Amino acid sequence: MKKKEIIVTNNATQILGQTVVVFSKSYLPISQINIRRAIILLVTEKAEPLVDFGNDSEPIEVRSPTMVLLVPQYIRLTVNHKERVWRVPTVNRREVLRRDRHTCQYCGSMKHLSLDHVIPTSKGGEHVWNNIVTACEPCNNRKGDRLPEQAGMVLRIKPKAPVHPIVAFGAQFWREHKLMVNG
Ligand SMILES: [Zn+2]
Repeated sequence: MKKKEIIVTNNATQILGQTVVVFSKSYLPISQINIRRAIILLVTEKAEPLVDFGNDSEPIEVRSPTMVLLVPQYIRLTVNHKERVWRVPTVNRREVLRRDRHTCQYCGSMKHLSLDHVIPTSKGGEHVWNNIVTACEPCNNRKGDRLPEQAGMVLRIKPKAPVHPIVAFGAQFWREHKLMVNG
């Protein structure tokens, strides 16, 4: 495998920051990878360009001193990809913040974040995914030991457990793609 290494140099930093969307062998969008990984997959024939996908799929041009590579924005695996075992993560600060994209679910602030039990534990609320959200300290203080309705506050989402990353990626991909097509 060493022989096939591709040297990408010079002005490449920006290009290398770009990403390529990977589809599974059965044409489902599964993840986004950096261009270096995409090139390796293509060169080792573990993936192929996914042609005719949308009208926004201009290939990304990658130049090295000796060659120019056109890397498609969408590639499809030609091999079955091995799925890692995945379980719903345990409810903890890190995972809840990640699910909520580090955003207070009441006001949208990204500062001074804490966790809020939607139904307070004192009122029987449990420490589970659908009862915990990210809340900034001001919102948390304002809400206090009350239900959101009692405090006149509205949640931006109905909290639920994170879904499998591939499922989440697929949903996000199609949402964005639909936006691109429509807009
Ligand atoms: Zn807030």
